[in-house]
Amino acid sequence: MRSSLTLKTEPGWDIGIMKIRKHPRMSNIGIGDEVYFLPQHLYAHVIEVFPAAVCVRIGILAITDHMELLLSPQLWRADDIENLSVCRYCGSRDDLCCEVGSVVPFRICERCSVLASNDVSQHGCYS
Ligand SMILES: [Zn+2]
Repeated sequence: MRSSLTLKTEPGWDIGIMKIRKHPRMSNIGIGDEVYFLPQHLYAHVIEVFPAAVCVRIGILAITDHMELLLSPQLWRADDIENLSVCRYCGSRDDLCCEVGSVVPFRICERCSVLASNDVSQHGCYS
């Protein structure tokens, strides 16, 4: 799936982007992952991955003469996001549970949840 986001760039800029060092957080993030945008407390699915940012599409409710839900593509910097599709402690994608006690559905794997707390019943597992 291609995003509808068009990057307006100077000639040669797309050669430049190849040289940008990949942000550490971007090594474990893929298209379809759920991400949380910390500055504005937004949540979205990744539709495109860049070396230091992700492209997402978020719904914006517009009210003019009628109500309309617009899907707006946005670039979120790697520094501002948290990947909710992996364990927030070790980055694993296996046996994930939702961490309880937060409004954000941070994921924690079974192994880390045992290490973090001996009381596994605190965490609502999916399976
Ligand atoms: Zn873990």
